[in-house]
Amino acid sequence: MIKKLICGAFLVFFSLAGTHAQSPMAAEIDRRTQLVVENVVRWRRDFHEHPELGNRETRTAKIVADHLRKLGMEVRTDVAHTGVVGLLRGGKPGKVVGLRADMDGLPVTEQVNVPFASKVKATYNGQEVGVMHACGHDNHVAILMGVAELFAGMKDQLPGTVKFLFQPAEEGAPIGEEGGAALMVKEGAFDNPKPDAVFGLHVWASGNVGHIGVRSGATMASSDVLRITVRGKQTHGAVPWGGIDPVVVTSQIVLGLQTIASRQLDVTKTPSIITVGSIHGGVRYNIIPDEVQLEGTIRTFNADVQREIHRRIKLTAESIAASAGATANVVITPLYPVTINDPKLTETMLPTLRRVAGADMVSEQPLVMPAEDFSFFAQRAPGMFVFLGATRKGVDPATAPANHSPLFDVDEGVLPLGVRTLANLAADFLTQR
Ligand SMILES: [Zn+2]
Ligand SMILES: [Zn+2]
Repeated sequence: MIKKLICGAFLVFFSLAGTHAQSPMAAEIDRRTQLVVENVVRWRRDFHEHPELGNRETRTAKIVADHLRKLGMEVRTDVAHTGVVGLLRGGKPGKVVGLRADMDGLPVTEQVNVPFASKVKATYNGQEVGVMHACGHDNHVAILMGVAELFAGMKDQLPGTVKFLFQPAEEGAPIGEEGGAALMVKEGAFDNPKPDAVFGLHVWASGNVGHIGVRSGATMASSDVLRITVRGKQTHGAVPWGGIDPVVVTSQIVLGLQTIASRQLDVTKTPSIITVGSIHGGVRYNIIPDEVQLEGTIRTFNADVQREIHRRIKLTAESIAASAGATANVVITPLYPVTINDPKLTETMLPTLRRVAGADMVSEQPLVMPAEDFSFFAQRAPGMFVFLGATRKGVDPATAPANHSPLFDVDEGVLPLGVRTLANLAADFLTQR
């Protein structure tokens, strides 16, 4: 359950938000949400039944692009492979606001018992897999299409421009391919016009439907891939002194890495994690191999800590290996930066969330260790990313199947709330001077 952590900082955060202007469009947005919600549910079920993996979202992208064109928007397609960018210029001059939805499904075989459950199969990194919207991105696409329709009908009242960013491959591009928000930015999706702020949301199993979780500052972790190759010298398992044992060196490195977060960094400041997820080496019980390979993930909530961890991992692995006469080659590949909710923007927009969901339904989002591609957009404009509870009422979110589970199930009550959340955030942002 999203805990209502009313900490000191959060109280300040509530009380400072007195300069907020409610958009005169708020009532109209709520009325129009009722008109689009039936379509949003229909779209969501259709996307759910036809999920597509990252960089392969061609069907989804076509439905999105056709919809935006029908609404009279300027539409750019094939951005970062399958991304779609729609531009809605309002009838009055003003700022530019970006709204983002991710479109990709996951290599998960669905086990949810709904009539529109996915039966799709695909090849993923050379393997036959089931495909499922196990992270709920089907909801995000449908919600943003609903917001597009709603705003297109209110175009004349709109003081500024809304940029709709439908992005591929949030979960990461297939091996050997580029993709996602970083590639969209590279291909100019965030330019001409550049948004003055960007908003995104995620349906989340760890809250009941109706709840919104939001956090100021670092919200979701950075994610890096760690690869270490330990080279020793092959020998007989009974004659270890005849070689250099990379299995023992690797074991020491795994333990050494665990002391970085727990013994070397100030754990009171910010959490961090180094996980070794795979170790491969050797072919036979009585041969000490030449080489062992190790892979893992690094998570942090602070770019300086991230850099420091990289430095210490290299030092730890190389020094341990050197002490045994082996070598360790450390390669760290950054995937996602920390997702940071701009504190000023978050403070200003909090009253909007409280109005949309009800004050007692908005609570401080605990830190989230998974990473988000949204972070690349939020590096270029003040960003705010919110979590919508998606677990049906009466079910304990603590035990509900998490995002990415084959049993991840979304209460569709989240859809109208999602439309109202994004539309009101955009309208209120454009209205503020
Ligand atoms: Zn996900
Ligand atoms: Zn996701």
